[in-house]
Amino acid sequence: MSDESTNTATAAGKNSTPTPQRNFIRQHIDDDLSKGVVSDGTIITRFPPEPNGYLHIGHAKSICLNFGIARDYRGRCHLRFDDTNPAAEDVEYVQSIQEDVRWLGFDWGENLFFASDYFEQIYDMAVQLIRQGHAYVCEIPQDQWGEYRGVPSKPGRHSPFRDRSVEENLVEFGKMKQGVYPEGSRVLRARIDMSSPNIHMRDPAIYRIKKAAHHRTGDHWKIYPMYDFTHCLSDAIEGITHSLCTLEFEVHRPLYEWVLEKLSTPCRPQQIEFARLSLSYTVMSKRRLLKLVTDGLVDGWDDPRMPTISGLRRRGYTPASIRDFCETIGVTKYKGITDISVLEHSLRQDLNLRAERAMVVMNPLKVVITNYPQGQVEMLSAVKNPEDSSAGTRDLPFGREIYIEKDDFMVDPPKKFFRLGPGREVRLKYAYIIRCDEVITDPATGEPVELRCSYDPETRSGSDTSGKKVKGTLHWVSALHGVNVPVRMFDRLFNVEKPDEPEEGKSFTDYLNPDSLTIVETAIAEPDLLSAQPGQYFQFERIGYFVPDHRLSQPGKPVFNRSVALKDSWAKASRTS
Ligand code: ATP
Ligand code: MG
Repeated sequence: MSDESTNTATAAGKNSTPTPQRNFIRQHIDDDLSKGVVSDGTIITRFPPEPNGYLHIGHAKSICLNFGIARDYRGRCHLRFDDTNPAAEDVEYVQSIQEDVRWLGFDWGENLFFASDYFEQIYDMAVQLIRQGHAYVCEIPQDQWGEYRGVPSKPGRHSPFRDRSVEENLVEFGKMKQGVYPEGSRVLRARIDMSSPNIHMRDPAIYRIKKAAHHRTGDHWKIYPMYDFTHCLSDAIEGITHSLCTLEFEVHRPLYEWVLEKLSTPCRPQQIEFARLSLSYTVMSKRRLLKLVTDGLVDGWDDPRMPTISGLRRRGYTPASIRDFCETIGVTKYKGITDISVLEHSLRQDLNLRAERAMVVMNPLKVVITNYPQGQVEMLSAVKNPEDSSAGTRDLPFGREIYIEKDDFMVDPPKKFFRLGPGREVRLKYAYIIRCDEVITDPATGEPVELRCSYDPETRSGSDTSGKKVKGTLHWVSALHGVNVPVRMFDRLFNVEKPDEPEEGKSFTDYLNPDSLTIVETAIAEPDLLSAQPGQYFQFERIGYFVPDHRLSQPGKPVFNRSVALKDSWAKASRTS
């Protein structure tokens, strides 16, 4: 095995997958392999989403982990839909999940499975448990379950139905299956231990009555297996060797193992738990994301402010940046909150390598270059990507009137302001050095509305013979050629670091940031940007990374989304404040 400890968070390059870090799960797998407990040495993992929502960045962590291990151990990873709750599930989600996993760069090949395909087998295994005396049909009303179950420090009470005969249980379970009984009136329970300190072992329900149509099996079933019963059996049926799940399932592991042992399944997958990803300034539970969507608080599951994979994609995240992020955060047993800036950092690093550069002035201030000939236009050459010489060059038209950023000019600048001010000189990127000779202000407001400047023809970029040195370089756009493009700027969706933990009496939606979307109508871009297509990545020089929105853009009329600012403005703000 190669030395992976030298891996760093910055190792991701274009189209590359970073070298995987060692983690305790890989260690566990190595140990299992060396002990020979993996029957034919093939490591089989699975990613098991419930199709009740779109995938989010937390799922990406699990996807990268499961598919990454399968790739590195030359095993395989199954995509399995855990579809045992017909009420919440939908084919729309089944499709979006497949699209997102593929987009992230992973392939399950032939190994697409649905837990619902095992309903018949799982039912037979429930019958087997009944025959063995390990399961019974319980009629305790739902409102008394808690009381019977008790609390961890005190044993629970036995259900009066616990000692039913096998024959009676078989008849009753059969009737549940036929739909004779109403929902909630009965459950099938595993007969384990009502005094176990682990609540999950106190005769947990393994089948319930549910009379909703299932997206694959229709009305065939009136009973559905519970998650804990389904998951271990699905893993065993598929021959999964390592079943990786998040920490909250640690306390379910004894039940997972109990079921497999009682049913003597030939395959005994190892359940291993790791800490789920939590990100600051966002929510990750599908229930909450669904609420944002159904209450119209965002523009659908793929709103660019959402932490969903489809939202991140629409925002301009690349698959490589998300994989790099998942590698950076690693896999541990420790719960913690990852700052969203870590994700943004992975994106900047990747986009710096792949984004085409463009000049866009967000908030224009007109500059007239008084000594530049009227009517003259010259084509200047600019590189498309300084990090990638194969990207080539682009033509930038330059003329007597241009726009610069309002922020790049001050009437009375402090000494450290290296941009433009009366009498000062700056370089226009890929063009000339100009000097500000005169400021025209709005008489009503006193605001500068136009600058009169002069240029030095000797200072053309690439053939500068003047020997002049200036400290500031500005981006600019020719006024005659520039095109107006709408730009959507995003900020954090929530105002607080942990919207997931609202104060007493408040809802997480109370913390939505009202300024998370602002639309800039004034932006003027170099003319080539009109042909920008969704799927292309851009760096607007000195401003940030942008992509054409794939829903709102039309041919020749792109609408841009800001993916991420060029620098982490929040980090800067918190340093200086
Ligand atoms: P949610 O809490 O968002 O509704 P879930 O766990 O119910 O998520 P599933 O569809 O069951 O969603 O998740 C599929 C897989 O993804 C599971 O193995 C789960 O452990 C994993 N997963 C879900 N959320 C995260 C997360 N935040 N970090 C890491 N893995 C996650
Ligand atoms: Mg789940």
